[in-house]
Amino acid sequence: MKKNVFSLKKKDTFLKKYAIIFSLILIFSFSCFIYITNASSQVKVPIILYHNITTDPNLNGNPLLNISPTNYQAHMQALKDNGFNTISFADYYNYVKNGTPLPDNPIIITFDDGYQSVYDYAYPTLKNLGMQATSFVITSRMGAVEGVDGVTYPHFTWAQAREMDQSKVVDIESHSDTHVNMSNTVDTDTLQVELRKSKYLIEQNLNKDCMVFAFPYGGKTDYAEKLGLAAGYQLMCKVGDQGSNSAGTNLTELQRITIHGDETPDQLLQTITKNLQ
Ligand SMILES: [Zn+2]
Repeated sequence: MKKNVFSLKKKDTFLKKYAIIFSLILIFSFSCFIYITNASSQVKVPIILYHNITTDPNLNGNPLLNISPTNYQAHMQALKDNGFNTISFADYYNYVKNGTPLPDNPIIITFDDGYQSVYDYAYPTLKNLGMQATSFVITSRMGAVEGVDGVTYPHFTWAQAREMDQSKVVDIESHSDTHVNMSNTVDTDTLQVELRKSKYLIEQNLNKDCMVFAFPYGGKTDYAEKLGLAAGYQLMCKVGDQGSNSAGTNLTELQRITIHGDETPDQLLQTITKNLQ
């Protein structure tokens, strides 16, 4: 009998001990879950925007569109030295849709218009630094020559686009077919050509899915967005000069920060930091 009472007590203590350990594990797991959830919801992704890289010392009077090769290189070096990790739009999409983690200090670098300088300067610089970017191209201007058909600067060719895209250093996505301001028209045929022809040409020439559209001049309307989604785009970018993106940002309203060509690397870092607050 005595033996039985003793073993019952022992069993009771044993169960209590396990109940306490189990509760502690439960509390610890819950705290971890809350911490991870909070941390992931706080991830902010700045998308910076460049256009052309040119050796013209005066930046053709327009630093909004031009940066010198030397300053561009210094910008990229500053991002790398300060712990920024470049990601693709696909990485950002997978983070938002599937919770795939992003590296620390993620950033997306974009170039609009598909200038030759992206191939000549940005591509080798990014490659050397182990970074990546996205180039939004105007499909009717692939390989366009400076001074012909009103084109101010030369544009890279389909072959160069293929090389950059396949290297995974520069992702090629759509910036329309002819660079019309899409907020100026509600003509369905025009909008469809700009959205669908450019997507088709990129997919045919580069043997890939084209999933991102950057509106020329930021000219986005609800109707164009609807047609863009129907055409199969999953992400859409505006032109802007501020903001960053998080898991809660509408994927068709991605904010970009226009980088001025005359900003020093320190000013670039300040601009990005300001937009992450
Ligand atoms: Zn443009």
